[in-house]
Amino acid sequence: MINDFESEQSLAIKAFKNACYQNHFSHAYLIDTNGYSKSLDLAIAIAKFILCPTHHQTAEVASNCEICKRIDNRSLYELYIIDIDGLTIKKEEISKLQDLFKTKPINGEKRIYIINNCEKMNESSSNSILKFLEEPEAGITAILLTANTYSLNQTIVSRCQTIKLQPDLLDVSNTENEEEAKKFILELEKLRYHLIAEKPQYLLSKDKQNIMCKINTIALLYRKCLDNTNCDELTIEIRKNNTISDIIRKIKVTLETKEALKSNANVDLLIDKYIIEISGGIK
Ligand SMILES: [Zn+2]
Repeated sequence: MINDFESEQSLAIKAFKNACYQNHFSHAYLIDTNGYSKSLDLAIAIAKFILCPTHHQTAEVASNCEICKRIDNRSLYELYIIDIDGLTIKKEEISKLQDLFKTKPINGEKRIYIINNCEKMNESSSNSILKFLEEPEAGITAILLTANTYSLNQTIVSRCQTIKLQPDLLDVSNTENEEEAKKFILELEKLRYHLIAEKPQYLLSKDKQNIMCKINTIALLYRKCLDNTNCDELTIEIRKNNTISDIIRKIKVTLETKEALKSNANVDLLIDKYIIEISGGIK
């Protein structure tokens, strides 16, 4: 429920509550997840808050609510979620959504679709979703989630109200992890061939969660380089060696690796592939 996220994502929650009190939801939200690990759960909680006629905010008050229960069971017709494991969201996925939302809603007027990791949309998916965003139908709200707004079709970005989340507390408070990550990136930027030959210490771990957290920190540090107000030592080094599109590509590769780690793929091979890809490949 939406109030569960209040302490970690107060600004985002406030934005949705205000929209609700003014009875004016935007037709499309782009949630910049900033790597926040519970962002899909948050989006579902927001959908629940919007779709439930009594706008239940806590689990206790919603315990007898049919709408909230059906959202929990993912059986509410008015909510459609695209959340796929593969690397691309294909056009067929978007067409399925468009077909479903062509018919008028059964209960109430509001309908929501959520696209998790929407940066996975390929060009034709992006174009179809764009058409959907440009001709908004009354009552339909889009919630697009991405950890990498830079790699999205920028027209899509301009059609949405962007809401930026706070990163996981773990990543921020874990300064030891951040220092290690900085060291790793500096090595990577300076000695990339060396790293391909030898597995980096930073990513050696038996614990997959731990590696995912570290990979996430790498993505966050590269992201900081796109913020013009930031000029710490690492940022300067990265900007010296990379164009903006290099940095965007590195963020993309990093986030794709984090996604791939969720699967059963061999962790060692994924890390090897990651190092080669983030270094720009073997030349
Ligand atoms: Zn409810």
